[in-house]
Amino acid sequence: MLKAYKYSIYPNKEQRGSLAHHFGCARWVYNWALAKTKAYYEQENKHLSRRFLQDCLVALKKTEDHAWLGDVNSQSLLSSLFHLHQAYQNFFKKRVRMPKFKKKHNRQTYACPQHVTLDQTNQRLHLPKIKNINIRLHRSFEGKIKTVTLTKTPSGKYYTSILTESNATHPALAPVKKEKTIGIDLGLNHFAITSQGEKIASPKFLKKSLKRLGINQKIRTRKDYKNKSTNYKKQCIKVAKTHERVANRRYDFIQQYTARLVCESQATSFAVEDLHVKGMIKNRKLARSIADSSWGTFLRVLSYKSKWHGKNVLTIGRFVASSKTCHACGHKEKVMPLQVREWDCVCGLSHDRDINASKVIKKQAIADALGLSVCIKSSFTAKSVSADGVTRG
Ligand SMILES: [Zn+2]
Repeated sequence: MLKAYKYSIYPNKEQRGSLAHHFGCARWVYNWALAKTKAYYEQENKHLSRRFLQDCLVALKKTEDHAWLGDVNSQSLLSSLFHLHQAYQNFFKKRVRMPKFKKKHNRQTYACPQHVTLDQTNQRLHLPKIKNINIRLHRSFEGKIKTVTLTKTPSGKYYTSILTESNATHPALAPVKKEKTIGIDLGLNHFAITSQGEKIASPKFLKKSLKRLGINQKIRTRKDYKNKSTNYKKQCIKVAKTHERVANRRYDFIQQYTARLVCESQATSFAVEDLHVKGMIKNRKLARSIADSSWGTFLRVLSYKSKWHGKNVLTIGRFVASSKTCHACGHKEKVMPLQVREWDCVCGLSHDRDINASKVIKKQAIADALGLSVCIKSSFTAKSVSADGVTRG
């Protein structure tokens, strides 16, 4: 079982300099390899192999002009090539867009795949070439250290993510049972509505912070951008801090809610809609609210947490008309405008729009998962969301 743990680190001035050098070299190697791959592709219509790039890098380090690459941990530079390789693999599988060049002002990272030790009693992290970094181990971790990734955020904070491997295995998945399944409808008015009738209010952190962000961004436009003045840079950090604060609070909310769902409830299965969140974000009007409620992150966290606890996540296709269909009799209304929050079915039942939708999701997911007679017409089938069991972010 692989698990990742994230900790804050507090490097001193000298260590920060060394870290900056590592970030810079890792980014340089990534961009160099990407440029080389792109150029080769334009000429030959073929991609360069990782092995070939690796040999080029070794040769490059021996030249006088690039001797500075020798000052950093060589394993970290090879990791950059591995990350580019992964980015291309994801691109070939149509999971993501074409890899892009890394920028100096975005989040900086580099990985140490070997030779990292952790002194848990003195709270010190020892990396290759950088020893004795102050680390705050706010929680203990299990397993053997596999890879350690260092990150610097645009606002200047440092983190380390420790990927560990242990012999523990995921518990066997519990059988899908109707009475132990919770249907979850993700919405905009509420973050989530469950088939048990619970409504979780939407945490509109971004909306609240937008005003602050707008003011900070406006002040930034008045600063000297051309010469990248000190005041301009200071203002950039303020903007970055606001963004990071929103992201942290949002992630925290999702962690707490999923923990409550998975660890504290008796349910063994969760039925959700496959939202294609990315596709929906293209719709400008809804975009901000959707990104704000971050359904994608919710589904990812719910999936890996469920896997840890031997619980199922059942997803159904997004085109099931969950809002328009009666969960009890299966009758489907022709139209259901967004403003209609309550409606009466021909069978005599009165429905709360969202609670009914979550019940429909539950019914459909169970029918698909158990292979029962399909009560609601759909060409989609339930499938378990793949979870890698690794926390990120
Ligand atoms: Zn009905």
